[in-house]
Amino acid sequence: MKKKKLLWQIYPLYLLITLASLLAAGWYSSETMRQFFLEHTAGDLEVRAQIIGKQIHAFLFPLNQAAINAVAKEIGSSSFSTRITVMLPDGTVIGDSEEDPAKMDNHADRPEMVSILSGKQGISVRYSRTLRQKMMYVAVPLRNKEDLVAVLRTAINISFVDEKLKSVRSKILLGGIVIALLAAGISLMVSRRISKPIEEMKKGAENFARGELDYRLHVPDSDEIGELARAMNRMAAQLDERIKAVTQHRNEIEAILSSMSEGVIAVDNDAHLISMNRAAARMFDRSISESVGRSIQEVIRNTDLHRFVEKAVSGKNPAKEDIVLHQNGERILHIHSTPLCFGKERHIGILIVMNDVTRLRRLENIRRDFVANVSHEIKTPLTAIKGFVETLRQGAMSNPVEAVRFLEIIEKHTDRLTAIIDDLMNLSKIEQDRENKGIRLEPGKIKDVILTAVQVCQAKADEKNITIELSCDDEITARINPPLLEQAAVNLIDNAVKYSEAGSSIRISAELRQTSENAVPPENRSDAGEALCGCPAVSSSDMPSDMADAEIVICFQDHGIGITKEHLPRLFERFYRVDKARSRKLGGTGLGLAIVKHIVQSHCGNVTVESTPGKGSIFSVHLPTPK
Ligand code: ADP
Repeated sequence: MKKKKLLWQIYPLYLLITLASLLAAGWYSSETMRQFFLEHTAGDLEVRAQIIGKQIHAFLFPLNQAAINAVAKEIGSSSFSTRITVMLPDGTVIGDSEEDPAKMDNHADRPEMVSILSGKQGISVRYSRTLRQKMMYVAVPLRNKEDLVAVLRTAINISFVDEKLKSVRSKILLGGIVIALLAAGISLMVSRRISKPIEEMKKGAENFARGELDYRLHVPDSDEIGELARAMNRMAAQLDERIKAVTQHRNEIEAILSSMSEGVIAVDNDAHLISMNRAAARMFDRSISESVGRSIQEVIRNTDLHRFVEKAVSGKNPAKEDIVLHQNGERILHIHSTPLCFGKERHIGILIVMNDVTRLRRLENIRRDFVANVSHEIKTPLTAIKGFVETLRQGAMSNPVEAVRFLEIIEKHTDRLTAIIDDLMNLSKIEQDRENKGIRLEPGKIKDVILTAVQVCQAKADEKNITIELSCDDEITARINPPLLEQAAVNLIDNAVKYSEAGSSIRISAELRQTSENAVPPENRSDAGEALCGCPAVSSSDMPSDMADAEIVICFQDHGIGITKEHLPRLFERFYRVDKARSRKLGGTGLGLAIVKHIVQSHCGNVTVESTPGKGSIFSVHLPTPK
């Protein structure tokens, strides 16, 4: 149902009250006037009756009907429009100003006559059927001492009273209409005055509801409405202040959550997402706006997390666990949940904080493996040494030939131990120097470094009748640490010699190359390069345009046994060997390529390997061009 405006509720009421009051006043005044006229006429008729009664009195003793009738007719004719009737107490008409009394019926039942006979005032107003007019009758008793001897009645046509009243009423009506119109106008004004401030207040309240809390209501003069407007203004100001405080507080919390590197999600008791920060959205590759409000099962596809959330929601105790996430590669998340409470009792869900601990766990694994590997690598030669020393003590010393052989074996294992420890120390020194930025790089010729390394390995190559070819432009220079790069080159040439058949050849080349030049299929290739700290980023804009994205590539190519592709990704890990027995037999420590990787990384470069089993391998050292 359509609601009426306040104005149209007040105004018709006002109008109704005004019109009703006017009608009541008009009716009351016309009635009073009528009453007044009738009373006045009745008084007049009574006075006349008294006067006429005195004239007739003389003809009552003895009763002279003819004289009475004559007097009535005479006075009746001279007194304009007044009818005079004289009756005996039994109702017999003995004189009348207009009719012949003998023809008139008995008047004992006339109301004015009945009133007189019962001792009351004899006044009656009624319609006369004889005269066909509305008449007023006033009767007075004519007495002889105390005895009623006759009744004199005067009557007058009172139609004029109605006519007079009619004209008065039409004047009242006219005046009433004028007053009603005026009252209508005034009522409208008054109604407007009452409803306008309320209308304004309604508009103001609508503005407040729309959020325009800086809007202020006009304060009217009226005490109550003025106070209401002031109260509403105060309320809006307070609301504005509180909303601003709440918004600021929420923004601060959002800023804190957004800038956290940990993922944070809040989940209600039905496992629906209440909130999610940017880091969490990144971890699960989801959009915050699309995720909030949906169930965790819909948003994040990880059964371990679902189980954890279920347990944490029902358990209502803090919980923590590591889960594996298969999103953009395998990642390990350390998740920690705490109950979310409003006040002390109301438990509304749980808050989960997630840390990406992939790197940490990997490092822990590497450290664990490293310790295990080192122990194992050291234990093997130590056990052998101990075994041969015991054999010597138990009598082998007496056999000089055997003793020399055992001592040679002990020496070999000692050399192996020394080699492992030397390599470990080398590795640790390179790492330490890199961490402390202690590795000094200076411009140097690549060819000089490679030549020295070839000289170091030449004897071993000659033993196996392996030729080493070198193709390198004299002018290729890079920012290098010559002893370290030389060590890396020696390790790579040494491996090439070790893992090649006798009589084969090794080719070493160094050249400037565009970084996009890469013809090797990725499945046969491994990259040991990582983002390096401490190395300045070489941007293409720093180089001449024809050298943009260029790098120095030193390739060590052999035609040896090659490496199957499943080993390539782990080849540069410490102690990783494709064929452990063969490596040990050849005097390898399993640390050579790890050392190469660290040296190259400390030169802000990376090392890659391409290999085909049975055909040979190419180890490539990529170095940035000098700026
Ligand atoms: P090692 O001391 O055993 O040679 P490295 O770290 O130098 O240790 O090499 C790791 C493993 O990589 C070796 O055990 C070997 O199996 C393989 N490898 C390294 N270089 C070559 C190569 N040029 N040809 C074939 N296999 C190689």
